[in-house]
Amino acid sequence: MTVKNWTASVIKQAEIDKYLVGGKDFIDEQAISRELELRRRPDARLVRDILQKSLEIKTLTLAEAAALLNVEDPALLAEMRTTALAVKRRVYDNRIVFFAPLYLSNLCVNNCLYCGFRTDNKEERRQVLTMEEVAREAAAVIDEGHKRVVAVYGEHPRNGADYMADSISAIYAVKRPTPAGGGFNNIRRVNVNAAPMEVAELKKLWRAGIGTYQVFQETYHRGRYAELHAPSTVKGNYRWRLYAMHRAMEAGIDDVAIGALFGLHDWRFEVMGLLAHALDLERHFGIGPHTVSFPRMQPAPGSFVSAHSPHLVDDASTERLVTVLRLAIPYSGLIVTARERPDARRRLIALGCTQTDASTRLGIGAYAKGLRQEENADKVQFMLGDQRCLDEVARELADDGMITSFCTAGYRCGRTGDKIMSLLEKGVEGKFCKLNAALTFREYLNDYASPATRASGELLLARELREIEQDPFFAGKKLLPVFLSYYNRIGNGERDLYM
Ligand code: SAM
Ligand code: SF4
Repeated sequence: MTVKNWTASVIKQAEIDKYLVGGKDFIDEQAISRELELRRRPDARLVRDILQKSLEIKTLTLAEAAALLNVEDPALLAEMRTTALAVKRRVYDNRIVFFAPLYLSNLCVNNCLYCGFRTDNKEERRQVLTMEEVAREAAAVIDEGHKRVVAVYGEHPRNGADYMADSISAIYAVKRPTPAGGGFNNIRRVNVNAAPMEVAELKKLWRAGIGTYQVFQETYHRGRYAELHAPSTVKGNYRWRLYAMHRAMEAGIDDVAIGALFGLHDWRFEVMGLLAHALDLERHFGIGPHTVSFPRMQPAPGSFVSAHSPHLVDDASTERLVTVLRLAIPYSGLIVTARERPDARRRLIALGCTQTDASTRLGIGAYAKGLRQEENADKVQFMLGDQRCLDEVARELADDGMITSFCTAGYRCGRTGDKIMSLLEKGVEGKFCKLNAALTFREYLNDYASPATRASGELLLARELREIEQDPFFAGKKLLPVFLSYYNRIGNGERDLYM
């Protein structure tokens, strides 16, 4: 099949239409603008009532989120930030899960104006990794200490669902000896960031063992979306993208991840769009997004828009939007990436983010070759703000009292989709998070940490163990002795014990 014929065959209109209500999708632009306008000056009592609802781990309404987005009073903003962190602590405790993005192909039929991979960017050197090269990339990130990756692909028939399924399997198959010998480390969860697909294709990813499926809407604003994505391209179809996660759920992938590329349109509008998306997933499937991403647009090779959009978001507004997202969709994970500069990332994590990446290399095949972005600028999608290694970021977090986690247990114990939703709401999942964070951080400190990180990490782990032993939740339950025996066994060289 030619690329042109393939492109024309991707979108299945029936898989959009079945979700529309009266021919309409769930983004009601007028309603969003109206709510933002109506709640321009929310009073403090209303805001505090909304914060109380977030603390009960209940998703906010669009009207409530609009009120929070309009708060300008510094004291009230400070209360919002404190509550956001309290929400995160209740749902996920003090852990931050780490992952590494693995860019496997930069071939793309689309022409998104903000992206280095767009088809019109003739400076970009195109490459689709072979399965041997995929395995080498996986080996390099395992040797760094990672246990979880997000595989990233452009949209092209050469890297369609079959290629993705093969690469997921290739990543899972890689086993690396532990530095001390006697055991092995591997990637335990492969998430995917890729173009929207039809249900039959998504089932291939599900069968290959995909973790989370991630698609960012880029912008929820139709007019802006049309300006940035030519209507003749697959990506030009706004609704095909809007319902990508509905189809994923239908295909059996119940950990789905949404996001907006902040900087394309007004940030308040995008937060409302993300919330409307979460609410529609809840309405259809009883479960919202597993994670929400708020990537901030970075300069991309040869892209004017990426550096000059009129909607680029400054640090202060980014902190506000993250605070409101944390409060509005309290059960979802929040991902902050190495797009952010170190200082900005640190502040955003303190507002309640739950996942981040480190040692990140965006160039295709760049991990195995050890290339920094300056060394292969013609193979990257955009430029990173933070190229620090995992060891350094983990140490910084440990010094800030946050534990680096490589936990992948929830997914492997079947705690996904609607099964995890109530556990998150009741704060039970956070208890498992705490145990699994300690187990996987123990593995990391033993296998990969530098002496300085190990010193900071040991202090933190000692505190964590004390808290676990004193937590009434664990008292009298079998969990505690099982955890303690796993912890000791890991100390003695066993790997991959989880609760
Ligand atoms: N091609 C697939 C798609 O578009 O859905 C997935 C891969 S794409 C490489 C992953 C994400 O990178 C996009 O969804 C977009 O949000 C983000 N991205 C694109 N250009 C960017 C830029 N200049 N700065 C930051 N993020 C960008
Ligand atoms: Fe292709 Fe995705 Fe980049 Fe658009 S954002 S050009 S679809 S890789």
